[in-house]
Amino acid sequence: MAESPYWNPKTETLARADLERLQGHRLRRLVERAYAKSPFHRRLMDAAGVRPEQVRGRADLERLPFTTREAWMEEQRRRPPFGELCVIPPAAAVRYHTTSGTTGRTPLRVLDGRADWKWIAECWCYGFHGFGVRRGDVVFFAFSYGTFIGFWGAHYACEKMGCLVLPSGNMTTPQRVQLIHEMQASVVCATPTYALRLAQEAADQGIDLAGGPVRRLILSGEPAGSIPATKRMIEAQWGAKAADTAGMTEIGTIMMFECAHQPGGTHIIEDHFIEEVIDPESGRPVGYGEQGERVVTSFGRRAIPLLRYRTRDLVVKVPHSRCGCGRGFDLYDGGIRGRVDDMLLVRGTNVYPRAVEAIVREYPAVDEFQIHLWTKDGIRDEITLRCEVRSGFEGQWEGVARRIAADLGAATEGLGFGVERVPAGTLPRFELKARRVKDDRVVKGGA
Ligand SMILES: [Zn+2]
Repeated sequence: MAESPYWNPKTETLARADLERLQGHRLRRLVERAYAKSPFHRRLMDAAGVRPEQVRGRADLERLPFTTREAWMEEQRRRPPFGELCVIPPAAAVRYHTTSGTTGRTPLRVLDGRADWKWIAECWCYGFHGFGVRRGDVVFFAFSYGTFIGFWGAHYACEKMGCLVLPSGNMTTPQRVQLIHEMQASVVCATPTYALRLAQEAADQGIDLAGGPVRRLILSGEPAGSIPATKRMIEAQWGAKAADTAGMTEIGTIMMFECAHQPGGTHIIEDHFIEEVIDPESGRPVGYGEQGERVVTSFGRRAIPLLRYRTRDLVVKVPHSRCGCGRGFDLYDGGIRGRVDDMLLVRGTNVYPRAVEAIVREYPAVDEFQIHLWTKDGIRDEITLRCEVRSGFEGQWEGVARRIAADLGAATEGLGFGVERVPAGTLPRFELKARRVKDDRVVKGGA
């Protein structure tokens, strides 16, 4: 019998009506448990006037109140260190993690038990198997193995699938390239930005990645894994296929992955999550094809029941039929499109860093870049794209810079972008979440 392309053939190919029935059943159990065990959820539901028995199925989801990051933070402050979202006693937990804290806020703290880690790995298996990773693959992780949960679950997924794992938490970038080369890794896991950084390092060391054994890259941690131009650049430099995945500390694992058909979007793991898309202002649901904020309900984490959590991620949901792989799971077209809070306001125009990256990555002449916001003459907002030019492209730079400025202007209602060349190696490089916006304005976000 031919090997299944699905990790869980039974749930991944369910008809929509059956899938929604399964979600309804799991939702009911989740709500009962959250209400019985978590005083945090009980207070929220009581305040919203909802009784657990009123949630009978998937259609009743919207009766439940949203959970926000702010409420979770406040709960942690009031009842440190974890708050009453966490429903297992610390003695039953086997691991502590925190959010990465790139936004400068206090991190969220989470605990997980043994059953949670089994489930976390299981969700990652959907993505790894679905993109063609198999027993016997040699999987390299460009990952710190620290308190940030990141690829931890993916590591266990690989052990579960029978892959050989190459950890590299303690290594420098040159050492990591050496390990990939020496151990003949066939799969590499990294953020999109760091995948490019590794490729650059390999080129500096004279290692031919494209001719080597790496055949798959699993990307996570940044929205760029679904930006077509960024993905094409990564795939060309590695001579391998690259798939996007996305997860978050609040759920402990990934909730979406790109299948081997690569339909330009990521499947939602809908037997383990309900993902809604809402208008971030009104909180009302938006339809297929419309951009909105993701709201996640997660069934699998025993330690932390999560109901209708507002993620601030921007997404566009499309029906499962968009992809020809046979899965019944709907997709997010273009993966995660950015964050509700990422939007920059420059002279009254909205600028999304992800949209800027999508344009800039169309130009192989740009090696690394930064979006620099500054104030001219003490009053006027300016936006300048600082670029490091890839070696070999110096002669073409002036023409390329003009074309980039024109493309950026066209995408932002004629907002005038400066495009400026900076010396190679002067812009920051990132292992974790890239931060390519530098805001030096006197009044940030001002008109
Ligand atoms: Zn598919």
